[in-house]
Amino acid sequence: MIDLRSDTVTQPTEAMRKAMMTAVVGDDVYDDDPTIRELERFVADLLKKEAALFVPSGTFGNQLCLMTHTKRGDEVIVGHDSHIMAHEVGASAVIAGVQLRQIESSGGRFDIDTLKGYIREEDIHYPDTGLICMEQAHGDGSVMPIDHMKKIYDLAKEHDIPVHLDGARLFNAAAALDVKACELAKYTDSLTFCLSKGLCAPVGSMVVGSKDFIKRAKKYRKLMGGGLRQAGFLAAAGLIALNEMVDRLKDDHDLAKYMASKLEEFSNIEVIKDRLDINMVFFKMTGVDEEQFISDMYDKDIKINGTEDGEWRFVTNHDVTKEHVDYTIETMKALI
Ligand SMILES: *Cc1c(COP(=O)(O)O)cnc(C)c1O
Repeated sequence: MIDLRSDTVTQPTEAMRKAMMTAVVGDDVYDDDPTIRELERFVADLLKKEAALFVPSGTFGNQLCLMTHTKRGDEVIVGHDSHIMAHEVGASAVIAGVQLRQIESSGGRFDIDTLKGYIREEDIHYPDTGLICMEQAHGDGSVMPIDHMKKIYDLAKEHDIPVHLDGARLFNAAAALDVKACELAKYTDSLTFCLSKGLCAPVGSMVVGSKDFIKRAKKYRKLMGGGLRQAGFLAAAGLIALNEMVDRLKDDHDLAKYMASKLEEFSNIEVIKDRLDINMVFFKMTGVDEEQFISDMYDKDIKINGTEDGEWRFVTNHDVTKEHVDYTIETMKALI
């Protein structure tokens, strides 16, 4: 099967499978897992932060950061179309007990004056603004300039408010901007990124921040049921992900651009070109029955998702080749 649904569907590489097989492990709740320790040290150094923590998923990492930064009843400012807002099952109300205040976002960018107005002043009636969250790369396929992250970060610091970055695809963003990931990590107090998406590790995300922040987060991780035992098997794959899979992310981006150029040739397809920064192609398509199209594609060995907000999304990844893309385009031509 050719799977264009997401980059979460990637299979671990041979090198990862071998590394998992031979990983030296221990009980990480007792701080006894050398491979987890190695991964956490490696990540902290890579992003030039003090400390890092392995967590089971990106959602877990984001919600853990919200809980660690805030107290119950705080207000957290997030983009209206952010993952934390729309794709985490309302967890912030359940776990951190905070209220989310949505700010209109375009590709992760906020209007800075609007953001300024959203920061609460001291008043007995008001919740405290406990955190501002950014998302980069954004789930809509776009990457914001570093300068914009800096503006948000500087404003937050003026008001002594912490900043969290949902960097599930941090390394895709860094590749798109042609900078090192640590350049993006500069403008946030905490961040989460996924080892399990385009980087191909089977499971896991990392939370990164100051030593004190990670110490507190570690206790909450236990509270949330994320204290893992011989997790070094997963860390072994994570280390390979960071050592071997980062530099090739730009191949996924190039392939997405190639696929977009082919989709553009269809008269019933409109590719959304201003969000073509990473490994995702968003497009609108008229004249097809959605259910039928998905099922016809499946019969031709191509897995795709249905539309969200009227848009289709095809995602490239390590397991998708140029031949797969050509076959997909040929199949679509025949079907349409
Ligand atoms: C995938 C993703 C997450 C969380 O990922 P899971 O590991 O699936 O929980 C968070 N934020 C963004 C923007 C994502 O794309």
